[in-house]
Amino acid sequence: MNIAVIGTGYVGLVTSACFAKLGHTVVGADNDPSKIEKLKKLQMPIYEPGLEELIKENVKHGRISFTSNVSEAVKKSSIIFICVGTPPLSDGGADLSAVEKVARLIAEEMTDYKLVIDKSTVPVHTGAWVKKTILTYNKQKVDFDVASNPEFLREGTAIYDFMNPDRIVIGVDSEKAKSILLELYKDIDAVKVVTDINTSELIKHASNSFLAMKISFVNALSRICEKANADVTKIAEGMGYDKRIGRAFLNAGPGFGGFCFPKDVSAFIHIADKLGYDFHLLKSVEKTNDEQKEFIVKKVEEALWVLNGKTLAVLGLAFKPNTDDIRFSPAMDIVTELMKKGVSVNAYDPEAMENAKRVLKDIEYSEEPYATMSGADALLILTDWEDFKNLDLKKVSGLLKAPVIIDARNLYDPKKMKEAGFTYKSVGRPM
Ligand code: NAD
Repeated sequence: MNIAVIGTGYVGLVTSACFAKLGHTVVGADNDPSKIEKLKKLQMPIYEPGLEELIKENVKHGRISFTSNVSEAVKKSSIIFICVGTPPLSDGGADLSAVEKVARLIAEEMTDYKLVIDKSTVPVHTGAWVKKTILTYNKQKVDFDVASNPEFLREGTAIYDFMNPDRIVIGVDSEKAKSILLELYKDIDAVKVVTDINTSELIKHASNSFLAMKISFVNALSRICEKANADVTKIAEGMGYDKRIGRAFLNAGPGFGGFCFPKDVSAFIHIADKLGYDFHLLKSVEKTNDEQKEFIVKKVEEALWVLNGKTLAVLGLAFKPNTDDIRFSPAMDIVTELMKKGVSVNAYDPEAMENAKRVLKDIEYSEEPYATMSGADALLILTDWEDFKNLDLKKVSGLLKAPVIIDARNLYDPKKMKEAGFTYKSVGRPM
């Protein structure tokens, strides 16, 4: 099938590469010419494990190409995936201006049947608006369908997730759209949940909000554990064996972040409000998440007393490991807050430093973990990259002014750290 993927970000690029791998002919289109220039030179605009190899392989076989001419991509494809960003507005709602722009462009350019599939995360009723927009601006009254196909991939394991999803959700209002989408995904062995478009859109917001709720739950639990002298990681284990609960997303830490959970939770609260329901449960999820970042800042304060004038070595800026994505990263918020309190920061992240440098201009960056530590008053671990789990603790102790570690990801055993002479503060575990 001839597929156009509009938006070549984290979701669009992975979608393009994976559909090409499945044997379809794909054109990835983006209105950011710098991204397309890079892609044409086979340079990746983002870091995602395995993506570069997959794109190179499919370019070689002629199954994938890239263009900044979005109109051309629309004209030559019968299936169009919308994968543009839906960032948060100041009132918490989703900014759908890119989705609308693409819908209008499709309407203006199409001269034959198109199936327009929204893969971006959008509030319920967006599909209906896309349909209305195309009906309004397509003068030739060409036949088309709109569908919803939310994406559940996780950055860092995006290709695996796309090819091995827990389920594929398809929201349609015509048999034609349903059969095209089922054909498109026929080689992916996963349950296909076929529903109407509104329901499909809500499945995505409900799923992300539920996962965010699990994280806020365990973070709230970490606060209770510290007061009760109990171990949140053991509680998570004890809870996680219960099949009704599951162990995933029960790691206490600095709060959830990234380009999905924070904005999707606030968009869901916003849309519920517009529909006449006060989603106070999710408001608490948001509040708990904000408090957890403050909680980590307080831990640094507890370890160092006066913050003004202190220097911190920071490991991790990405919102999670195996990505360069710093959007809504709790690490970025925590570092910003500490800087406001007069702390100087020397940071290292394996992949996210280029992105971080554009936002956090007043900190030092190091090329490897240990270089951040020399002469620092303490080490603060904010992202659970594999590289940070096996630090040479003797070396760390020798480099820091005093052996103080604040570990927001619970990477080390508190007992062993104490034995090794560290003042070690982690999240929700007995000291
Ligand atoms: P992104 O910012 O990385 O990519 C969006 C791309 O769309 C950018 O390259 C941008 O230049 C392009 N774009 C914007 N307006 C355009 C237009 N009018 N025409 C052509 N291109 C345009 O975003 P992302 O992380 O890939 O997320 C995209 C959507 O997928 C969002 O709704 C997001 O919530 C959702 N989503 C993201 C993830 C994730 O892990 N990142 C996972 C599932 C769903």
